Amino acid sequence: MIVSSEFSPPAFMWNEWYQSIGGRKIDISEVNDILTAIKEEQSPKFKGPVNPIKTEFKSPEEASKIIKTKAILLGADEVGIAEIEDSDIYKGRQISEKLAIVVGQKMLWRKFQVVPSHDSAVECLRVYYSLGEIVIQLAQFIRDLGCECTVEHPIGDSNVLHIPLALKAGFGELGRHGSIIHPKMGPLFRLGSVITSMDLVCDSPIDAGIAKFCDNCKACRLYCPADAIPDNRSPEAGKDHIGKDRYVIDTGKCFPYFATHNYCSACLAVCVYQHREWAKDYEGFTTKLFPDLDFKNPPEPSDPDTLKHWYPKIKR
Ligand code: SF4
Ligand code: SF4
Repeated sequence: MIVSSEFSPPAFMWNEWYQSIGGRKIDISEVNDILTAIKEEQSPKFKGPVNPIKTEFKSPEEASKIIKTKAILLGADEVGIAEIEDSDIYKGRQISEKLAIVVGQKMLWRKFQVVPSHDSAVECLRVYYSLGEIVIQLAQFIRDLGCECTVEHPIGDSNVLHIPLALKAGFGELGRHGSIIHPKMGPLFRLGSVITSMDLVCDSPIDAGIAKFCDNCKACRLYCPADAIPDNRSPEAGKDHIGKDRYVIDTGKCFPYFATHNYCSACLAVCVYQHREWAKDYEGFTTKLFPDLDFKNPPEPSDPDTLKHWYPKIKR
């Protein structure tokens, strides 16, 4: 059993956070339909029968390859495996699984041509739903092999923090904007996980020079409409997976803007790593090289004592 560490952040408390800004403000029918579908259609499929006949693999390498191949066939754009540490579990939670199979799926750049916007909000939710299907089906595949596992949906009441697990699984590096930048996909992707105690081979974190690049680039910091992205790293926030001090996003400023402006996402869309040789739509659509920004009425930051998602000092 792994119990959350004393430094673990609290789990997402959407209701309390929305209350702190006067209630949920984003009211887009497609978004509402997807949220309902996640709750009513996907949640009941988080659990499933485990085949009593367990498949024997020649080696952990073979098992890992089979699981990863399945994840890609199900629609994942990236998959990696990481050991779960106590600091990867939300405060007050405990799990019995030791490994996370992290899956990522990219969002379509053509939906982020204006940010924040109706299209960018719907695209975020579309990928949350789509990734949800991937982790649900991957979990059932693992159960069919005779192994226990748990779905950790990309949105909702997850027990684990997908970002640190994905960093350990080699997805990329933590950008100044607090999201992972993948060397090929850039920052426009979402994460989900299946956790299990299968005997698998863990991947390794990567250092592709991205975090170093962030130290000289401030595009996301300059464009953030809520002034939530910092100028400097915060040594008191602990090290990231490659030993660098973290950039700490002020979620008390970000969340009120994010939650009232179509999930914002501006920091991802303006990120320089979205605008290099892959600054094109993945399916051949002609797009702008840089998004239009539609920033209106930034709200006041929430009270510092308000419940919010915070990043404490975590040593890795
Ligand atoms: S989501 Fe928007 S408000 Fe939040 S950090 Fe990114 S750019 Fe700033
Ligand atoms: S916009 Fe620049 S500083 Fe911000 S995360 Fe991307 S590369 Fe790093």
